Amino acid sequence: MTVQAAPTDGVEPAGLLIGGELVTETTGGTFQHVYAATGAPSLDVPLAGAADIDRAVSAARAAFPAWRATSADQRRNALAAMGRLIGENVDKLSKLNTLDNGTALNIATAQNFMAVDLFAYNAGWADKGGGEVHDTWPIPAFDYSLDEPYGVIGIIIPWNGPVTAIGQTVGPALAAGNCVVLKPPEVAPFSALEMGRLFTEAGFPPGVVNVLPGGAEAGEALVRHPGVDKIHFTGSGATAKKIGHAATDTLKPLGLELGGKSAILVFDDADIASAVQTASGAITLNLAGQGCICGTRAIVHRSVYSDFVAALTTAVEAIPVGDPLDQGTLMGPVANQGHCERIMSTIHAAIDDNHGRLVTGGERIDGDLANGFFIRPTVFADVDNSSPLAREEIFGPVQTVMPFDTDEEAVGLANDSTYGLAGYIHTENLRRAHRTAAALETGMVWVNGGFGIPSSVPFGGVKQSGYGRIGGRKGVEEFTRSKNIWIAL
Ligand code: NAD
Repeated sequence: MTVQAAPTDGVEPAGLLIGGELVTETTGGTFQHVYAATGAPSLDVPLAGAADIDRAVSAARAAFPAWRATSADQRRNALAAMGRLIGENVDKLSKLNTLDNGTALNIATAQNFMAVDLFAYNAGWADKGGGEVHDTWPIPAFDYSLDEPYGVIGIIIPWNGPVTAIGQTVGPALAAGNCVVLKPPEVAPFSALEMGRLFTEAGFPPGVVNVLPGGAEAGEALVRHPGVDKIHFTGSGATAKKIGHAATDTLKPLGLELGGKSAILVFDDADIASAVQTASGAITLNLAGQGCICGTRAIVHRSVYSDFVAALTTAVEAIPVGDPLDQGTLMGPVANQGHCERIMSTIHAAIDDNHGRLVTGGERIDGDLANGFFIRPTVFADVDNSSPLAREEIFGPVQTVMPFDTDEEAVGLANDSTYGLAGYIHTENLRRAHRTAAALETGMVWVNGGFGIPSSVPFGGVKQSGYGRIGGRKGVEEFTRSKNIWIAL
């Protein structure tokens, strides 16, 4: 099987979308993008520098008064049009995702339909803003609070699912009446820029959404900029800590969606086939395990442990890995060379230091896939929960398995993590399901399966997985602030 070349045909020149114009002369230098499936250079990407960020913030500030004054039904209709346009352009967007980061085309397509729904859903909130009326005492008054947009939101997203991330963050920010300066990473700029073009086509006025691919320099300039009212960041904890420091000068509020090391609790009464699907799905359903919500610590009752490990190994070895542009592929390469090397060094350290028993995988894939960043789906069993293999977010196609004996021990192992993004429970016992879900220190729990995040639910982490929520009503509230008005009667 030969891997097809990077899908660059028809890709429009990269640049920055500022105030409705594509800017190709930029101040942040040029990034040579490399296609993950072949390891070959693909296209040049002009990057945003601090001066470009400054221009984009000015454009967003200039657009804000009119956008805020735009009637709610017009904002609703623009968001609904955006959802429809993503649907009409899903094939193009999905190919651009594959170009961005090597996501298997059919996984990218499924993810991008989530963005269609996110825009349709958030359109429904655009005309439901308002506030509430309060009783007051001792002096009777007419007192009400208004939910107001912040103004300009700086949104920083990672490389692992740009279109969905835009749906989760830019969608509700616009529904709430804000303007946005979006910074996708230099390593995955193409689908985000196409989204920029679709925002224009959907009727968003110039400056309401600005898209500036760039690296740390552009991100930091956005965080420090006094014209930005709030930052919403999706990415790693290490970068979030830098952002926290940079945001203190302007006391800027932050929303943080960070990483995870989510547990899958498999009880003795579980449907093992379904639990195996959750554990192997963590490798396939989220672009080669590069998903924040992946359940990557399977904690399995000792009575079903060996059956689970055997079935998981069979499932993982059957994952169709290959050319991400082939329809039959469920897992492509990991996103870039540096990331591939980091994953492999974690795997090698785990083998050398005996952090667990390597059951399958643990190596780069050679032959026709040797030039791309392909890693064989990997399972470690008998993993020590205190080892780096169980504690660090590997963000690659690596599953870890460990046994437990009692329910208390299972919950203790699951919660013994600096992260708290998601948790997965497999049991046929309703009481145990509710009891365990309540005990997990995470922002989200799935019981007996269920990948994907419905547009209507609040999603986010606890502990070092971040704070704030995207999705549902709380996701729109993340982008509004309350003003109270007291009127003497
Ligand atoms: P990253 O933290 O390296 O980069 C994220 C973004 O921050 C990029 O746009 C990057 O250019 C920018 N950035 C880098 N340095 C910066 C700085 N100093 N100031 C401002 N911006 C800066 O993360 P990544 O490797 O792109 O993504 C993987 C991480 O994202 C994982 O930890 C994953 O779990 C997390 N993630 C979380 C969610 C969620 O919803 N919780 C979703 C997807 C990914």
